[in-house]
Amino acid sequence: MLLPILSYPDPRLRTIAEPVKVVDDEIKTLIKDMFETMYDAKGIGLAATQVDRHIQLIVMDLSDDRSAPRVFINPKVTPLVEDKKPYEEGCLSVPDVYDKVERPAKVRIEAIDGEGNEFTEEVDGLLAVCIQHEMDHLNGVLFVDYLSRLKQTRAREKVRKVVKQREKQPVTVKA
Ligand code: ZN
Repeated sequence: MLLPILSYPDPRLRTIAEPVKVVDDEIKTLIKDMFETMYDAKGIGLAATQVDRHIQLIVMDLSDDRSAPRVFINPKVTPLVEDKKPYEEGCLSVPDVYDKVERPAKVRIEAIDGEGNEFTEEVDGLLAVCIQHEMDHLNGVLFVDYLSRLKQTRAREKVRKVVKQREKQPVTVKA
């Protein structure tokens, strides 16, 4: 089932997510729906916050062919290096806006997977960028918060236009 994605500056995107207590069927259904929603929107990551579910759950797939789905539940992310690297980020909640954000280049992730198993992983590159971007969502933070006031104003205007444009388009049935 496709879930509606909240758009900046919706105040619900500022909600702090609660930890997931148990990985039950309800959570597994939400994970399935979040993947469907993320793939449909052509995104590489989606936090539950973005679909108005305020629990610590992130889905991600950094592959080109949807072959590497990843689930992060109750994630903890620790930077392993002090130097930050810039990366051009975008966000399904801030459509059509892209800008550089600097983040630590290497992090440790401690989380629970979609089957309820704990794991620890040290990552760099795109995965390090993406997990920090999604962690921000769980804490009510958006990548545009790191940009100048002027860029934030422009981003709001851009998103308003994109959302308006989408509303004009006929509803399509996706089989
Ligand atoms: Zn995002």
